[in-house]
Amino acid sequence: MATQNSDKPVLGIIVPCYNEEDVVAQTFEALSSVQQRLIRKDKISAESFIAFVDDGSEDRTWELIEDLRDKAMCVKALKLAGNFGHQNALLSGLFTFLEEADCLISIDADLQDDINVIETMVDRFHEAYEVVYGVRRSRENDTLFKKLTAHCFYELMQKMGVKIIYNHADFRLTSRRVLTELQKYKEVNLFLRGLFPIIGFKSTQVLYDRKERQAGYSKYPLRKMLGFALDGITSFSIKPLRLLTVAGFLLFLTSILLSFYAILSYILIGTVHGWASIVLPMYLLGGLQLLGIGIIGEYLGKIYKEVKQRPRYIIEKELR
Ligand code: UDP
Ligand code: MG
Repeated sequence: MATQNSDKPVLGIIVPCYNEEDVVAQTFEALSSVQQRLIRKDKISAESFIAFVDDGSEDRTWELIEDLRDKAMCVKALKLAGNFGHQNALLSGLFTFLEEADCLISIDADLQDDINVIETMVDRFHEAYEVVYGVRRSRENDTLFKKLTAHCFYELMQKMGVKIIYNHADFRLTSRRVLTELQKYKEVNLFLRGLFPIIGFKSTQVLYDRKERQAGYSKYPLRKMLGFALDGITSFSIKPLRLLTVAGFLLFLTSILLSFYAILSYILIGTVHGWASIVLPMYLLGGLQLLGIGIIGEYLGKIYKEVKQRPRYIIEKELR
C-alpha cells in the first residue's frame, strides 16, 4: 500500500443498501474502478475507501458485502440492526467514517447517479468547496408522473420557505468539517438535503444525467415519497401553521360580512335563506377544521418523536 501523502485527501464513498443483492457487486466494481483511476491520477489518497451500509436487508446483501470485504482492502461496511430508512442509513455511514476521511461522497447503491461525476466532485473539493451537490440535468428518464410530482415537490418546498437545491437528491460530496457541524443537529426527523444548505460553507453544484436503476426494484414507492415530502416541509418550515392562522382569520372576516348580509336581507326583504347557504359553509368549515387539526397533528407528531430522543440508527456490526 502506498504511503499516505498528506496533501492528497482520503475519499470515502458511502453506499446505503437495502435489499440490493442484485446490484451490490456490480456497484462495487464500478465505484472501485473510479476510485482506482482517481488514485492513479494522484487526486485522492491510496487510503480512500468505499463503505457500504446495510440497512437491515432481508436478502443476501450483507453476505455479499462481506465477500467484497474479503476480496478488497478498500471496503468498509456497517450493518444496521434493522431497517432504519435511507436517511438514517446514510447518516450512520457519514458519522461512522467521517474521522477516517477528508471528504465523503454519498451515492445510492443502484448506480442511477453518474459515477463519472465523482471526479468532478473531487476536483471541486480541491478548489476548496466543502459541499458539492450532484444535480440532475433533466428528468427525461423519469415517468411523467414522477416528473410532475417531483416538480410540485420542489415548488411547494420553495413556497414554504425551505432552502432546497432543485433536482438534487442525496448524491453529494461533503467535507469532514461540514459533517462535524452536521453532528450538532440532533433532530430525529432527518431530511439531509434540506440540512446542508442551512449549515452553509462554500458550496457548488455539478450536473449529471440520472440513469435508470441497473437492477432490483425501487424502495421508494409513492406512499414513502409522499411521506418524505411531508417530512421535508414540516421539518423545515412552520408556514403551514401560519397559513392556517391566515385562513382562519379570513374565514372569520367572511363570516362577519355574511352575518351582516343575512341580517340586512332579513330586515329588508324578509327572506329566510335556503339550504345551500347553510350546507356549503358547513362542509367548507368542517373540511378546513379537519385540515387544520391534521396539520397541527403533523407537527405534534414531530415534536413527539423529537422529545423521545430515540437513537437514529443502531449499528450491529462494523467491518473495517
Ligand atoms: N435504501 C435504504 N433503506 C431504505 C430504503 C432505501 O438504505 O429503507 C437505499 C437503497 O438501497 C438505495 C437508496 O437508498 O441505495 C435509494 O433507494 P431507491 O434506489 O430504491 O430509491 P429511488 O431511486 O427509487 O428513489
Ligand atoms: Mg434509485
